[in-house]
Amino acid sequence: MTKSPLRIVIVGGVAGGASAATRARRCNEPAEIILLEKDEFVSFANCGMPYHIGGEIPDRSKLLVATKELLERRFRLDVRPRSEAIRIDRVAKSVTVKNIADGTEYSLTYDKLILSPGASPFVPPMEGTTAKGVFTLRNIADMDRIRATVDSSESVTPKQAVVIGAGFIGLEMVEQLVHRGYQVALAELMPQILPPMDPEMVAPLREELLAKGVRLELGNGIRQITSDASGCATGVELQNGTHLAGSLIILGMGVRPNTHLAIDAGLQIGRTGGISTNQFLQTSDPDIYAVGDACEYVFGPTGESMRIALAGPANRAGRLAGEHAATGHSAATAPVMGTAVVRVFDQTAAITGLSMKAAARAGIPAESVTVIAGQHAGYFPGATPITLKLIYAPESGRVLGAQAVGKDGVDKRIDVLATAMAFRATVRDLSGLDLAYAPPYGSAKDPVHQAAFTACNQLDGLGHVVPADADLFGYQVVDVRTPAEIAKAPLTGCPQAITIPVDELRDRLNELDASKPTLVCCGVGIRGHVAERLLVQSGFASVSNLSGGATLRRRAVPSTS
Ligand code: FAD
Repeated sequence: MTKSPLRIVIVGGVAGGASAATRARRCNEPAEIILLEKDEFVSFANCGMPYHIGGEIPDRSKLLVATKELLERRFRLDVRPRSEAIRIDRVAKSVTVKNIADGTEYSLTYDKLILSPGASPFVPPMEGTTAKGVFTLRNIADMDRIRATVDSSESVTPKQAVVIGAGFIGLEMVEQLVHRGYQVALAELMPQILPPMDPEMVAPLREELLAKGVRLELGNGIRQITSDASGCATGVELQNGTHLAGSLIILGMGVRPNTHLAIDAGLQIGRTGGISTNQFLQTSDPDIYAVGDACEYVFGPTGESMRIALAGPANRAGRLAGEHAATGHSAATAPVMGTAVVRVFDQTAAITGLSMKAAARAGIPAESVTVIAGQHAGYFPGATPITLKLIYAPESGRVLGAQAVGKDGVDKRIDVLATAMAFRATVRDLSGLDLAYAPPYGSAKDPVHQAAFTACNQLDGLGHVVPADADLFGYQVVDVRTPAEIAKAPLTGCPQAITIPVDELRDRLNELDASKPTLVCCGVGIRGHVAERLLVQSGFASVSNLSGGATLRRRAVPSTS
């Protein structure tokens, strides 16, 4: 009797599911591989959808990365669109599948089952969410609906949209709707845009949005979506009563993992609500795997399991689960750092690992340094600043996270730091990294090095920075910029600062009281460090440098004038 081939059933045919299916085929040619997808399309580029709506990716077909036909022809997959897995019977090792087209159900047995059902956009339980013109964006059908609405509004004036939620997708939609001629209001419950990042780091994005005419309503929840007699959305009413007008409303309020199948099947659910998995992506049932937005991964900086809804981890996990299901072995999954990047018009912001906010929330001891430095040599045309924040463990110096914002080169620095974190690098390791350099690309001392040097100085007692938002009361504050610089951008919240330009400091020490706790400040922190070292070596009792200088302070402390 011939043994029947291994049957792998995969639930969800996009990022994680399609990766699992194709890897499984590359590792096991005889296997029967069935890909169930409840919607029409498989293997499409969710991440590209905002850019098709905005017209930056004009050709819709480019988003259909691998069609059903391609997957069948090249990988001999049994692709079943409009087929929803509605139940798992772990004893019988079968999945009940509903054919969406005709409502019929059938049972499908499996040897290995891979769950990659993703997540669903959060829709708040409030009035107006079903009004015409209110959308979430998760799949091609959503994208087509939004695009059709945007296209059909060409002759409407004014074209007004409200985006609710200033996370990654919300910001991408804001940018693209502005490109399409909309007046856009962005409403966010938290007091800042991009809530995963530390507040002072997103100030340049805020300025960028305002400069592009986006209305920002931060720190204010929504009460309801308003609509007219014909059921068309007319805007959003906020908790404080403000009404934001818009006929197009995008809900970008985060996602909830699709775990109901797993929960009903009795699979273990983790601390943050995702399906628990081991290092081979197996759930509490070793014949069932889970990957993508529905599962939990080990978060690198803490070693704890958590949900991380990003495409990179989903694709990599899918690949490993596909291999393990097909062969019984694979490499273990690497911890995930939650590395993410977003473009907001001419600015880019990126994050990896822990923010200071997240570290405080988790009770993890962390220090940070922030540098503001050119993305390439200052003397080479086109140099623009990157603000780079490096977060590390106070004792060991192990890198725990990083954030960056700027016009250019942000992604490169965050990827370097995410890579370093994968190898458990310390700030000392970073200071010795041999990075590519020529004037059009970087500096001999890259912003990554500069941040590492600052952190090493802290660890070695060769420097002491205080956070940009520190209370400066009680310090003898010495602003070492030139009077012209200070006149242009005074130090926020510190009228008592003594002005002594750094190049005059050595000769004017007698104007200062060496016994007082002294804080030096410059434009971005570099001259401040020079002044700090000079004062320390001149016998000053206690000297600190303001992190990121007056520039970062302006972002961290709102001006009262
Ligand atoms: P998905 O790729 O969503 O696939 C899940 C599929 O499962 C869906 O097609 C769903 O219909 C199907 N399904 C669900 N339940 C069932 C069932 N019971 N039976 C059958 N099928 C089912 N991430 C980034 O890292 N960078 C980005 O720039 C980025 N941009 C994004 C932009 C947008 C607009 C969106 C929506 C997401 C973006 N993401 C981005 C997130 C990224 O797309 C997701 O993290 C990733 O797709 C998750 O993969 P997944 O396989 O878990 O889920």
